[in-house]
Amino acid sequence: MLNALQRAWAGFQSCSVLRFKILAYHSVAPISRSRYEIAAENFEQQMEHLAAAGYRVVALQDALRAMQSGSIDSKAVVITFDDGYKTLVDHAIPGLNRRGWPATVFVPVAHIGGRYESSELLSWADMKEAARGGIAFGSHTMNHRSLLELSNEDLRHELVESRRILASELGLSFHPLAYPYGYYDRRAAAAAKAAGYDLALTFGSILSNTSWTNPFEMKREQILCSTTLKAFSRKVDVRYDLPRKMWHMIVPEK
Ligand SMILES: [Zn+2]
Repeated sequence: MLNALQRAWAGFQSCSVLRFKILAYHSVAPISRSRYEIAAENFEQQMEHLAAAGYRVVALQDALRAMQSGSIDSKAVVITFDDGYKTLVDHAIPGLNRRGWPATVFVPVAHIGGRYESSELLSWADMKEAARGGIAFGSHTMNHRSLLELSNEDLRHELVESRRILASELGLSFHPLAYPYGYYDRRAAAAAKAAGYDLALTFGSILSNTSWTNPFEMKREQILCSTTLKAFSRKVDVRYDLPRKMWHMIVPEK
């Protein structure tokens, strides 16, 4: 029995080379004021962990290519930020630039230079400056409404317009989308594909992306202010997928 378990575990671990993680952050600020805001000091510790543990932070576009060609490996990690908070300029982007690491920021295009839920967002000038330092941008739709609740016409508008404006302002050739709130269904995924996106991201479920993941259902691990460094180290490590999944069937993930 023990041998069978050991063999199953070894088999599971050997599959890990084909899996990789995408991390989803929101805001990074001097101190955390909400569940979705990471203290800058904690963010820095998490980046230090990635470097010390031998992870390679790769661009989303490169990860997609490697995933589709079957050459992705579990030391590859992608970093993303949703909503495009202004705080990234001072508290996240400098640390990424210093390490030469790429990341993708998803912006609700109608709110650029304005506010989302009372927090200040990046301006076009901020985004162009960040892009020069290797930060990529993607659509978080126009207005950050749940795609599940929209008419076909509104759904198309949210996806097509945001993609078009980002492409023309920033000269993008790669078009990623992050579903607002991570919510999507078949209709939303089909509309994203029809609108010309290359991939679309949702949230978690404690499973890695693999070579056979649908590019319009790519999963991300949410990093929250409650994520300890130990929890972070397990979230990025694909070998913990199965134990975490089993554990969180008993204790819901915070
Ligand atoms: Zn969002």
